[in-house]
Amino acid sequence: MDLCERDARCLWHPYSAWGADLPLFGVRRAEGVRLYLEEGRELIDGMASWWCVIHGYNHPVLNAAIEHQLRDMAHVMFGGLTHEPAVALAERLVAITPDGLDVVFFADSGSVAIEAAMKMAIQYQIARGRPGRRFLVPRGGYHGDTLHAMSVCDPVTGMHGLFREVLPQQLFVDRPEPAFGQPCEAHHLAALEAAFAEHADSLAGVILEPIVQGAGGMRFYSADWLRAVRALCDRHDIPLIADEIATGFGRSGHLFACEHAGVTPDILALGKALTGGYMTLAALLTTPKIAGTIAGGEPGLFMHGPTFMANPLACAVARASIDLLLESPWQARVDAIEDGLRRGLAPCAALPHVAEVRVLGAIGVVELTDPVDMKTVQPRFVEHGVWVRPFGRLVYLMPPYVIDEEDLARLCGAVVEVVGELTVHGGRCVPRNASI
Ligand SMILES: *Cc1c(COP(=O)(O)O)cnc(C)c1O
Repeated sequence: MDLCERDARCLWHPYSAWGADLPLFGVRRAEGVRLYLEEGRELIDGMASWWCVIHGYNHPVLNAAIEHQLRDMAHVMFGGLTHEPAVALAERLVAITPDGLDVVFFADSGSVAIEAAMKMAIQYQIARGRPGRRFLVPRGGYHGDTLHAMSVCDPVTGMHGLFREVLPQQLFVDRPEPAFGQPCEAHHLAALEAAFAEHADSLAGVILEPIVQGAGGMRFYSADWLRAVRALCDRHDIPLIADEIATGFGRSGHLFACEHAGVTPDILALGKALTGGYMTLAALLTTPKIAGTIAGGEPGLFMHGPTFMANPLACAVARASIDLLLESPWQARVDAIEDGLRRGLAPCAALPHVAEVRVLGAIGVVELTDPVDMKTVQPRFVEHGVWVRPFGRLVYLMPPYVIDEEDLARLCGAVVEVVGELTVHGGRCVPRNASI
């Protein structure tokens, strides 16, 4: 039995049906921007393993950081104990994030960090004796797969219908408009302002992805809209939670997407690229005001503490990844990727089933008119020697920052080819020559 057959008998994959006959590819090894498959093929990676692998795979500096830490300790509990990797990482995070975010809380994944951020906002309101318990959330967002994180995901794409009876009801506002680079006008903000005016007392906080809405639709929105939310949060004294789990560490063209708007959130969530894609780790940063208010309330403790909190291996590699990023010409690399994506994906705009092509930083998106049929389309990308994993109507690229011009051009060329072959059959985009 080969690897994929063994897999199919006993494994579940992300958002998949057990036993479904979907294409699956065994990876033997990964290095730089390449995945080496069991069957011998090599693929240029366009996904950075879902935003994480910013420095490429199998990086000697990150390998060394883990090996070095491993000699001292792989793990130790964080209750009552501390260690150099955690402290050094927290110091770096405080130094590189917007001013005022001085207190760090580590969690073990993005979803868990969002749960903790929501609990932090609720405990802050409890400590102040305020009644607010729910969250104001723009539509079109994605914040993770655990139940409270799901409750702030887009109500349509976030499966709210399926989990209606168990999800807390949040206050949704229309998705942020207009698009990135365009100025907000009064009508873009009217509903938002009305929601604050009417419901501010019932709110524990506002949660959003700054500038880039990721898995909820891959949209880039106006910095004015984010500034307007910040101003409304200030006026109504409500904490703003910025989920930069996807955008953090340079992906949008600034180190943090909030910087596009010059906005500092009250709670910042980081994950994904935090460890350069080596280990699962997430972090929340908040202000002394919020942390201090919680400390001064009842019971005076922040009620959260994962078993693997501040895992030393994860902290050590995260610190090495941040140093590697800041010592690299990351800004010039991301700018070059932005140029390459704009040039490389531009021909898609003229293709029949393409609704829009958009690029920001090292993120390139081709939005189709209909959802992609994964079973027939995914293998086409592999045949073209690239790893691209569309979802819904979106074919998108977010390669490691170390990708060179030639590989980026090949990646974009493959997208143009595969998208150019698509036709709509039974409401889905399929390759024209697919046997259906
Ligand atoms: C991926 C993601 C999450 C969830 O992170 P996990 O590590 O998958 O739990 C939360 N928010 C955003 C914006 C994300 O992109």
